[in-house]
Amino acid sequence: MIYPWQAEMFRQLVGERDRLPQALLLHGPQGLGKTDFARHFAQALLCESPLPDGAPCGACPACGWFASGNHPDFRHLGLDADAPAEEGGDAPGRKGSEQIGVDAVRSLAGFMTTSTHRDGLRIVLVEPAHALNVFAANALLKTLEEPLPRTLFLLVSHVPARLPATVRSRCRQVPCHPPPAAQAQAWLAREGVARPDLFLALAAGAPLEALRLSQQDGGQRAELLRRLADPAQSLVQLSEFVARLPVEEWLGWLQRWAYDLLARKLAGAPHYHLDAGELTDRIAARADLHDLLAWEHQLRDAKRLAHHPLNPRLFAESLLAPMLAMR
Ligand SMILES: [Zn+2]
Repeated sequence: MIYPWQAEMFRQLVGERDRLPQALLLHGPQGLGKTDFARHFAQALLCESPLPDGAPCGACPACGWFASGNHPDFRHLGLDADAPAEEGGDAPGRKGSEQIGVDAVRSLAGFMTTSTHRDGLRIVLVEPAHALNVFAANALLKTLEEPLPRTLFLLVSHVPARLPATVRSRCRQVPCHPPPAAQAQAWLAREGVARPDLFLALAAGAPLEALRLSQQDGGQRAELLRRLADPAQSLVQLSEFVARLPVEEWLGWLQRWAYDLLARKLAGAPHYHLDAGELTDRIAARADLHDLLAWEHQLRDAKRLAHHPLNPRLFAESLLAPMLAMR
């Protein structure tokens, strides 16, 4: 499927179906639906009787194979969720590979040389493309340097800078941007989100991320803000509350709140926690600008260590203490 904000991009790309380059790199922030788009586009190109607007028919054998993950001319190189984590990785015990290795690229050899169904296109989706390790990226580069006819690579990435420049230069860039707020909010409202403006702000304009946040919020973000505003809450109580939440969630909330406080301090409007205006105003008025900047830096540094803090409560305490001193 594609989303309303992708309709124009789809129309343009599908209009070029007979003169596409050998590789497209779709890049832009997370939460825009880039991978859904790439899959839909691939299905449209493989479909045997596309609709007048270029969309896949959903009824032909090719669409059936695609939907069941069995299209013989489509491959997805991605992260293997069941693979054991790499030896010496920073996440012991966590399953799921964080890289696309060279074997995955080499495994395409047979696929690339077999003739395609009814002489159609052959499509390889590489997602997330920045997960290609250096050997895999080199192997892919060799393939891109000797293009095969009727073969299309679709690369998808939210950190394209991590791809070697040599690979990027072999792809046509397809930048993906957050849609206009009104369009995103209308879509979120149709998805049943009660405060689309709030969650879209928290997600920096990315609609799918906003939807995910609205489904995960569970009132805990609002509860955290309420507790932060309550002078009766001690550091220990707050840290205990916070340590029970997923670390990447609460750290993200605090980080965005630090931005809001800084924006308010500098006479701007909050960007993210639109429902915390009064609290933000109060603390921004009282806090020292240098203290706020130092806290924002501390949160940013903490994000790098956030995957597995040894002691979640102490970790939370160290990040909340500066905030409470400003309260
Ligand atoms: Zn079809």
